[in-house]
Amino acid sequence: MAFTDSARLKVDVMFHGIRYTDAMGRAATHAYPNFYPYRFEPDEANSTGQNKVAIPYLLKTVDGTLIRVQGNRKSHWSIEGDANTGFRLISDEADQDGVPIDFEGRPDWLSGETTDNYPMAQSGVSLHGDMAVVNVAPGCEYFLSKHDGVSMRCTFCAYGAPDQRTAHLGQVAGQVAVPEQTLSRMQETLQTAIAAGDIRHIYLVGGSLPDGGAEAERFLQVARAVRAVNTDRIPVTLGSGALPDHNLQQFFDEKLVENVCFNLEIWSEALFSKVCPGKNRFVGYDRWIESLERAVGLWGRGRVYTAMVAGIELEPEYGLSWEQAADLAIEGAEDLCARGIIPIYSLFWPVGQQHHPDYMHPLRNYFEKLNSACHEIRQRHDLQIWEGFMCHRCAYMQLECDIDRDPRSGNGHS
Ligand code: SF4
Repeated sequence: MAFTDSARLKVDVMFHGIRYTDAMGRAATHAYPNFYPYRFEPDEANSTGQNKVAIPYLLKTVDGTLIRVQGNRKSHWSIEGDANTGFRLISDEADQDGVPIDFEGRPDWLSGETTDNYPMAQSGVSLHGDMAVVNVAPGCEYFLSKHDGVSMRCTFCAYGAPDQRTAHLGQVAGQVAVPEQTLSRMQETLQTAIAAGDIRHIYLVGGSLPDGGAEAERFLQVARAVRAVNTDRIPVTLGSGALPDHNLQQFFDEKLVENVCFNLEIWSEALFSKVCPGKNRFVGYDRWIESLERAVGLWGRGRVYTAMVAGIELEPEYGLSWEQAADLAIEGAEDLCARGIIPIYSLFWPVGQQHHPDYMHPLRNYFEKLNSACHEIRQRHDLQIWEGFMCHRCAYMQLECDIDRDPRSGNGHS
């Protein structure tokens, strides 16, 4: 299938990034802040006088398509304009006025405090467009385990062990329960963010624990705390690791979540054991898929998802061409969809190879082929990504929602 104009623009900006202009700096003053600053290279034109500067996190086109802002001095994309006249995304390769855009705004609560004078920005709530992400225990204990000299962390993961970086949330290695004070600060921040408007999804995530039952206990605690303040019943997704069956039943019976998304990350047991050694050891590949199937049995088709790290198979150590990697991933999508599980492909950014054409061209071929094929697979299995799980206003590193809402696909919605 052909991508929509929005999907084509999005994939191009995802792969090329955006080079710095003063307009990007102006946008940063009112935009939701990017986790990564723009870092100038020594010989790069730089009017800021600083080595690195804050930039916006997410830009939006007029139809609401959300695109992550990645700095890249070599990109043909740049930003012009200001808040009064409007911003535009300009390509050096097109003799046009560019595309009107806006940026995901910086909400007032991000500079606010809870009633016990704690910064809301550090309370474990963040936004991706219209999605609130709740993460009150980001430290992953897989980082603390080694077997035969191999770390049990997933190879791509930018989280870390519970340590001084998670101390502000009261997370300590070996302690399952989330401190009550952390939960109440999260609740107050989430309530404030919901009252500020435009939140249509809530996603519960966190680091993993080697004991799946303990991980379930922690997520049950967090889900109950979210449910207590989510009086509008905004749909909630359980984004833990694969959980034991009896714990899944608890989430279902207590009506704590509307969706489940246990991230398998990669198709095939051979790759899973290498990319996710901890998940493979502590849960197991077959058990992970069984748990997702169990969730389909409880919540139904269209409510169970699994996120995949799209493109990690192209890392040199796996020895796959982009065609082989795409064929394998498509085989996986076919299998998962036949079980009622919808895979969601988040683009993997190869550290060090970023923007290197020899690497990025095959990765883009892979990503586009995979997304086209998965659209067709979802249609054939009559699986729709539910708006209560994810939509084009929050999926910033994925294409599924942008492709599926294409009016030409017969499944369009704005
Ligand atoms: S289980 Fe999750 S948090 Fe832990 S290393 Fe893997 S991806 Fe990262």
